Amino acid sequence: MASSSRNKTPDLPTPEPDSPALSLKRQPYRFSTLCATVDSPDADHKDQHGSSSVPIYQTATFKGIGKAYDYTRSGNPTRSHLEHHIAKISSAQHAFSVSSGMAALDVITRLLKPGVEVIAGDDLYGGTNRLLTYLRTHMGVTVHHVDTTRADSVTEFLHPGKTAMVLLESPTNPMLKVVDIARISALVKETCEDALVVVDNTMMSPYWQRPLEHGADIVYDSATKYLSGHHDLMAGVITCNRDDIAKDMAFIINSVGNALSPFDSFLLLRGTKTLAIRLDRQQSTAMLVAQMLTKLGFVTHYPGLPNHPNKDVHDRISNGYGAVLSFETGDKELSERIVGATRLWGISVSFGCVNSLISMPCVMSHASIDPATRAERGLPEDLIRLCVGIEDPADLLDDLRHALMEAGSIAFAANDYIRIPNPISRAVEKLALNESHAARQRANREWFVSAPGKVILFGEHAVVHGVTAVAASVDLRCFGLTSPRYDRKVSVHFSDISDYKAEWDVDSLPWDALVSIPKGDSHPDVLDQRLVDAINSRVLPADCDMPPKAHNAALAFLYLYMTMSYGEYRPTFHFICRSTLPIGAGLGSSASFSVCIATALIILHGRIELPVVPPPTREGGPGEPGHVHISHGGQRAIPPDVAVETNKWAFIAEKVLHGNPSGVDNSVAVFGGALAYVRPGFGKRSGMDQIQGFKSLKFLLVDSKVPRDTKALVAGVSRMKAEQPEVVQKLLDQIQAISNEARRALADPNVPRDVLLSGLSALIDENHAHLVSLGVSHPSLEAIRAATAAAPFGLSTKLTGAGGGGCAVTLVPDEFQAASLVSLISALEAQDFRPYITAVGGSGLGILSPYDPINFDDDGETDASPPLSPPMTPGTNREDGALPRSIRARFENVGTEELSQWATGRGKWLYV
Ligand code: PLP
Repeated sequence: MASSSRNKTPDLPTPEPDSPALSLKRQPYRFSTLCATVDSPDADHKDQHGSSSVPIYQTATFKGIGKAYDYTRSGNPTRSHLEHHIAKISSAQHAFSVSSGMAALDVITRLLKPGVEVIAGDDLYGGTNRLLTYLRTHMGVTVHHVDTTRADSVTEFLHPGKTAMVLLESPTNPMLKVVDIARISALVKETCEDALVVVDNTMMSPYWQRPLEHGADIVYDSATKYLSGHHDLMAGVITCNRDDIAKDMAFIINSVGNALSPFDSFLLLRGTKTLAIRLDRQQSTAMLVAQMLTKLGFVTHYPGLPNHPNKDVHDRISNGYGAVLSFETGDKELSERIVGATRLWGISVSFGCVNSLISMPCVMSHASIDPATRAERGLPEDLIRLCVGIEDPADLLDDLRHALMEAGSIAFAANDYIRIPNPISRAVEKLALNESHAARQRANREWFVSAPGKVILFGEHAVVHGVTAVAASVDLRCFGLTSPRYDRKVSVHFSDISDYKAEWDVDSLPWDALVSIPKGDSHPDVLDQRLVDAINSRVLPADCDMPPKAHNAALAFLYLYMTMSYGEYRPTFHFICRSTLPIGAGLGSSASFSVCIATALIILHGRIELPVVPPPTREGGPGEPGHVHISHGGQRAIPPDVAVETNKWAFIAEKVLHGNPSGVDNSVAVFGGALAYVRPGFGKRSGMDQIQGFKSLKFLLVDSKVPRDTKALVAGVSRMKAEQPEVVQKLLDQIQAISNEARRALADPNVPRDVLLSGLSALIDENHAHLVSLGVSHPSLEAIRAATAAAPFGLSTKLTGAGGGGCAVTLVPDEFQAASLVSLISALEAQDFRPYITAVGGSGLGILSPYDPINFDDDGETDASPPLSPPMTPGTNREDGALPRSIRARFENVGTEELSQWATGRGKWLYV
């Protein structure tokens, strides 16, 4: 967590009185000071002897009549001090301490009446589930378990007059799922004003998260964990700000008699004094452990990791990431060996102690949940949970690495620790065999894939500073075709990247450097630098005579080819790529290339399921049996899971190509249409939203052919912002207003077409003027603008992308005469610009496979005499004149217009 929020000063008491000699008001105490200083609840509690530590009033009764204390079940001075202290560090009006975390929940749920409804998360602590089940079966309380990681999922279960309580936990244990406590609290209050939002804050403690500040009514902690910190007592604490609820809970505690004993109150008070200092150490070591595991290639769950789901929510509602994390090894027995091999990490349930603990939730804390429910809740059987303590971080990391090595999960090589691919268990092996059979079937087909480029319509440059950018697909596309090979080689031909051709023996690739990613798992957030280095040094050495763009494209291809391989099967094929997109003009050519290779590779590696292919006919062709054809929005739309998987891998390819892509280009290339994008880190909702109902628009896209330096242009704007913050902020605000307006108009089905087009023209001119003010235009772009605006054309143009050369986009109204367009194009060509007529907002990724598997034997082996040996013999026909074997020759030779027709399914397939 950023240190600024770490040092956030809770709104808690300042020392009294302020020094009259100083005009400066004293700062409220920081959290660790509050922890270490225990105050008396009031003057009556001042110790008669001035004891530094609160004494243990180990007594059941008190003498006298009408005094503050009479019987320890009802009240005890040691407990009063503790509760006062807990209220203080929790910014709460009221606090109670009881005999355990579960006792705390018992007190809270006694506020419920028979017949009411409770909404609870579906990934709660097991004991909480057990108590809720009891209330359901014995007390007539209805309990709805919902996925609270999606805040809106509670809405349909909110029944005014019936919903009495919403019970949340964030982050959850052991999967560290994050729940938006603030948003859910607000949703609950909107619909069911009287419903109580209750939060189990055990995983965070008041140090890292104070849910009362986010709208919760009651918060409880198992104080057995962080608050006590030493695993030497059981306790629960409850805090709230409402007097009425506090009164009811005080009554319940006194009635049932589960208040914390004097001795445990003393111990807990002692534990809380060191809360902040313990937790700082525990958290920083937890981060180191999470980073180490991620680097080694384990799927690791920890809210402090950059790619943790809902991290932005967690950052908003809490001050820290906690000291519990979990990771997956891919193999339950391996996990058991790892847990068994640690020395310093104690095998134990629970967490929050100064000693580090390790456990396997499925065989320990969560064993009471049946395996089917565990699987349903996404709790992996091989999951290992780590609860980090205060030992020396180096010792903890060392011990864990040793355990991983002893268990055979990692090895030490080339001065570094590397992950060893898991030995595949028999069942998995069988599954892999079936899967590889299906993958082989696929690899015996040809696969034609295509993806569009993109233009930024509004918001370039400003997007870097948190403004919404609107990007849309263009109908200039990148096309890829895979054809099978049977000689254990993979080969590529990138026709538009220096006509680069290469082939590699599959077995000669640096497989020893690979940490393969099991099917269904995602690539980690960071690239595997070891593999990148191995490919660069052993397959694409720098001394070979290779243009840098081709080098990067080949690196991205090989990186994806290798990381997607799992099990024994490695597809062999030829991949050829053609593109109608100018390369390096800011039109997303690299993203559409990335999407093409990612799609081809996930198909050939069998990482996605595709629609079942009907049997072939002799006449088989597109639109008829015997082919697969799916595309964005078509009759057979790309299934969402295929699109999402492709997008993830395309993003990885983009990372290989660019280092730090935004993710916009690949998303447009996969999903097509248009989307609005806001970068994270500006305190507002970030991410990408598809602009629904986007209507395709005609644009003239003009490449100025002047090289641009994106980095320098972006830096120039940042410099200007630093020098003239007010001027630039005003421009950014105006660009934000343009993006908002464009986004609204593009998605509104009721805006008449002519109004939309004239409105967009005005926004284009306005946005361009702001970009000129930001200093990113260029004489060539102004020349394009002048040519398109001149009579008789009168069109609106703006630069697109980084500017400084690059490309411009001109909106072409529907009624614009074809002849005028031809003369405008000639005028632009005469100035040595390269115009393209393009539609914006069309199809995303398309996949087509025209034939059934070629020559495939049932035993998984191919024919003795393979029918194809690309790249030397493209397009061989079968001698018997039956189905043609390959469309490769045609793919290589036809005009790109025909490839566009293949991609959209509009054209006719002609066999070679
Ligand atoms: N809530 C959470 C998140 C827990 O992990 C636990 C115990 O592990 C509890 C509540 C129950 O606390 P106790 O064991 O103190 O009753």
